[in-house]
Amino acid sequence: MIAWEANIRRVVPYVPGDQPKGDRLVKLNTNENPYPPAPGVRKALLEMDYDRLRKYPDPIASDLVDVLAEYYGLGSDQVFVGVGSDDVIAMSFLTFFNSAKPILFPDVSYSFYKVWADLFRIPFETPALDAAFRICPEDYFKENGGIIFPNPNAPTGLYLPLDQVEAIIRRNPDVIVIVDEAYIDFGGTSALKLIETYDNLLVVQTFSKSRSMAGLRIGFAMGNPQLIKALNDVKYSYNSYTMNMPSLVLGKEAVKDDTYFKETLKKIIDTRERSKKRLRELGFTFPDSMSNFIFASHKTVPAAEIFEALRKEQIYVRYFKQPRLDDSLRISIGTEEEMNVLFGFLEHYLAERA
Ligand code: PMP
Repeated sequence: MIAWEANIRRVVPYVPGDQPKGDRLVKLNTNENPYPPAPGVRKALLEMDYDRLRKYPDPIASDLVDVLAEYYGLGSDQVFVGVGSDDVIAMSFLTFFNSAKPILFPDVSYSFYKVWADLFRIPFETPALDAAFRICPEDYFKENGGIIFPNPNAPTGLYLPLDQVEAIIRRNPDVIVIVDEAYIDFGGTSALKLIETYDNLLVVQTFSKSRSMAGLRIGFAMGNPQLIKALNDVKYSYNSYTMNMPSLVLGKEAVKDDTYFKETLKKIIDTRERSKKRLRELGFTFPDSMSNFIFASHKTVPAAEIFEALRKEQIYVRYFKQPRLDDSLRISIGTEEEMNVLFGFLEHYLAERA
C-alpha cells in the first residue's frame, strides 16, 4: 500500500436516486414536485441580470433569510439557510453532534444520516421502528449525544404526532434534537412552534419538495438564535458563500407566492389520496403516508420484479435493496396524468401475473 493511502478519509457514500434522461419517462423516484415553481420564480429568472454573476453573492443571504423569517413569524436571527437541507443537516451534524455519546436516529430513515455520522466520525445508534414502521419515542429517552429523525419519516411517509415529537425533545434537554421536516408541508403539524419552548430544538425544511425547487438547492433551519449563530460560525469556517445568487433571488420569489404554494400542495395531496385508493385496489399495502410518496408493498408480486417491469416502461420509482425495505417500492406522487400511466401499466402487468 502507498503510504498516503492510509490517510485517506474512507466513507461509503450516500447513493442518490437515479436522474434518468429522456422526455417520455415518468419519474416518480426522487420525491420531486411534479409542478413547476411559482410563476414569480420564472419571471425573476427571465429578468435576472447575468452581469450580477460577476460578483460574490451576499454571504449572509439576508434577502432569503428575511423573507423566510417573516413567513414563519420568526426573527432573522432564528433562520439559517444552506444548499439544500442536505447541506443544512450536514452542517448541523458538524456543529451540534460533538459528544462521545452516540447520536440516535431510526434504523429505517433517511439513509444519509449514517453517512454523515461516518464521515464526521460521530458514534451512533439506530433504534428500530416497530413492526408497523412507527418511531417509538421511549427509545429516545436515554443518554445520547443528539437526536435526528425525519417527520414525516422517509421512506415510510409516516407522521409522528406532535405530542410524541415534543416528548422526545422534552426528555432530551441536554442535547440538540433535529426534526427533519423535508415533507411536513404535505401533512402533519410542524414542530416549529415548539422552538419558543425548547432551546434544544432545530427544525429543518427544504425548497426541494413542496416548493418545487430541488434543482436550485435550498434548505433552511429554524431554532433559537444561539443555535443559528453556532451554525453560521461553522458555515463561515467552511465556506462563506454557500448560497449562490440565483438561489437567493429565486428562493425569495417562491416564498412570496403563498397562494401558488398552497394550490400545488393541495393538488399533490389530492393525488396522493386517490393514489392510495388505486394502490389498494391493485393489491398493495402501505403505511398511511402524509408525505409526497407512498411506500407500497404488493401482496403477491415481489417489489424487485415490479421495479424492473416499470423501469422497462420508463416508469421510475425507488427500490431499496435492504433488509426491511426490499419488499416495497417508494412511489413519488406525480401529476394525475403520470399516476394514471403508472396505474394503467400496473393494472395490466398485475392482471397478467395473477
Ligand atoms: N431529508 C429527507 C428526509 C429527505 O428525504 C431528503 C431528500 N433526499 C432530504 C432531507 C434532503 O433534501 P434536499 O437536500 O434536497 O433539501
